[in-house]
Formats: sequence, structure tokens, C-alpha cells
Amino acid sequence: MQVDWDKTLDEILAHKMSCQACGALGDMMVVGYTRAPEAAAFAARCRDCTDKSNCDARKLVVVCEACAPKYRVNGELMDETGMMTMFLEECRNNLEESLDYLSTFWKEELDVDYEDMQKRLEEVDPELFREEDAWRMRLEEEYLQIHRWFREHGKRIPNPGWRSEYVEDVIALGYRTLLGD
Ligand SMILES: [Zn+2]
Ligand SMILES: [Zn+2]
Repeated sequence: MQVDWDKTLDEILAHKMSCQACGALGDMMVVGYTRAPEAAAFAARCRDCTDKSNCDARKLVVVCEACAPKYRVNGELMDETGMMTMFLEECRNNLEESLDYLSTFWKEELDVDYEDMQKRLEEVDPELFREEDAWRMRLEEEYLQIHRWFREHGKRIPNPGWRSEYVEDVIALGYRTLLGD
């Protein structure tokens, strides 16, 4: 997921949420997941999708109650704290996936030679490593923005221990992280 922060933060400052599909404003929105290709036009996750007409990826979206059935959104009506909690969860899941890939999942790709499975990704395919590392850094910056939102609003961060576990995992693998040392 990539959050459109300029837009989202403006909305949050105005204490209004807006439907990503039709633009309607409200204090509550349905936040959840859909695989409907029609939702690719506005889902943050699909910003970089090349073929938006046919994308059935699982997308996190924020829509009004009228739009939720149109896009088959599997979600719940929430306020902005609920929405930010969903963004935090999504960001954490993406970070974990990225780390799993960097540490081991890349070895299971069929075009990786068996002898290369003992090596690190940066040795085998430096270009692919740089791409994945840059993606993880973008996610970490997003994480810090979400974290700041919780601080500025005086809200407890759900499951705060997640962050130190993630940092330990990254450092144990010999990589860097913006989330701590
Ligand atoms: Zn709507
Ligand atoms: Zn997509």
C-alpha cells in the first residue's frame, strides 16, 4: 500500500474522512479490503499498477457506505483512528513480507540456481536487492508518518512491541532500518 499522504493528512487536519471512490466527506468510512478490479482506479496500492482494468490484487480502501457494496468492500465502518490503525497494520504486514523476501523467500524463485541459495540476495542479484531495499525504506518512512499521527493525536499505538521485534530481525539479518537501532 502507498498512502497518498498529502491528501490523507489534509483530510485528517480537517477532521474529515473522504471516500476514495466518490469523494464524499464524513466522520466515518468503511475501511477494508476488496479484489474488485473497479477499485484499482482509486486504491492507493494500485497507484503503480500498469493494467488497472484487470487488477484483482487485495486492496485496502476507504469508502463511504454507499460505495462499499459497489466495490464489494469487506470492511467495517470506522472513524479516523480506526482507519489509521488499519493503515498501521497494513504497513506492518508489508514490512514483514518485504523482510521475509529479503531473508529467504527470494531463494524459492525458480530461476535462482541451487548453489546460489547459500548466498545473500545482494550477492546474487544486486539490482533486485536495491529495488527491494528501496521499497522497504519507503514502507518504513510511511510507518514513521503513521507513528507520528498516533503521537500527535495522543492515541496509544497498538501492539507497540512490534517495532522492536522488527528492528531486531532487520539487524540480525545485517540490514539497516529507519525504525531504530
Ligand atoms: Zn463513496
Ligand atoms: Zn492493482
